[in-house]
Amino acid sequence: MKAAVLTDTGSVAIEEREKPNPGADDVLVRVNACGVCMTDYHMYHGTFPVDFPTIPGHESAGEVVAVGDDVSDVDVGDRVAINPSIPCNRCQACVNGNENLCENFTSIGGAADTIIDGAFAEYVRAPAGYVESIGDVPYRTAAFAEPLACCIHAVDQVSLESGDTVVIIGAGPIGLLLAQTFRASGAGTVVVSEPVDERRELALETGADAVVDPVESELASELDDLVDRVDIAVEAVGLPETIETALSLPSAGGTTLVFGVPPQGTTVEIDPFDVYYDELELVGTFSLTPNDFARAVTFLRNGRIDVEPLVTDEYDLDGLSDAFSQMEDKKGLKKMIYPNDDR
Ligand SMILES: [Zn+2]
Ligand SMILES: [Zn+2]
Repeated sequence: MKAAVLTDTGSVAIEEREKPNPGADDVLVRVNACGVCMTDYHMYHGTFPVDFPTIPGHESAGEVVAVGDDVSDVDVGDRVAINPSIPCNRCQACVNGNENLCENFTSIGGAADTIIDGAFAEYVRAPAGYVESIGDVPYRTAAFAEPLACCIHAVDQVSLESGDTVVIIGAGPIGLLLAQTFRASGAGTVVVSEPVDERRELALETGADAVVDPVESELASELDDLVDRVDIAVEAVGLPETIETALSLPSAGGTTLVFGVPPQGTTVEIDPFDVYYDELELVGTFSLTPNDFARAVTFLRNGRIDVEPLVTDEYDLDGLSDAFSQMEDKKGLKKMIYPNDDR
């Protein structure tokens, strides 16, 4: 089979690989669609640790073409999304139900303690318990199950109440998914702050109630005009400056949620008096649990989240390096790879 392989820092090659054989508890999936994510980009650039060579790709969906001897609940021909995040189910975090914080995480193609071959390949092997049936949802829609599960996990980190006002800083693919997820989860007003025109437009098209261009006008004063209070401010960029902005926005009793991945070792300033006097909360969110993934597939199957407008670029396997260059130049939104070239 053909696979896109990260061979070294900044280098990706299309190689011929042995088609994997499913183990007794595994399934073999013919990959139809696999999204390109910032994690792939960081693995490619070596900012996330990787043992080269490795096949990346962790946001995938496809058709089951073989099942292991002990697999009874997945059949050949099933249309599935693959949950790439496999916890050990033995460490303290797993036992406590926080599988996303597993100390021995394995990922199918993503960043983790152990990385197994991912889905930028014609076929990928996955444990049978980590594929979710997608019904008749298109494969490229189903390929959003992983990032959407991360957004569902994020929403569950804050105590969202029906009708709350949520401000999201950053309208990349994740910021746009977060806006829809908060809306689907009961937010009353969703405001998105984003400097790129097309992204602001897309935020409005996909359900944001208002958008702000933070270059043209000051976000805090715009919010004063737009909303009575800010219950939750979400940072979906990953920069210390925007995290400081997000920390400054919530009203008394409000919460700041850090979703963007900030560079390690940076610091932000917090006035602890405000935290005390206004009962402010600062929370993080990392990855997803198997339960989050199942709920993401439910959202997609029932049409609660519209991911189609987020796909701006589509490639066959050879296009992965082009996708990375586009991301480098911050062009477009979600890049989708079709390893078998059947879009
Ligand atoms: Zn991802
Ligand atoms: Zn664990």
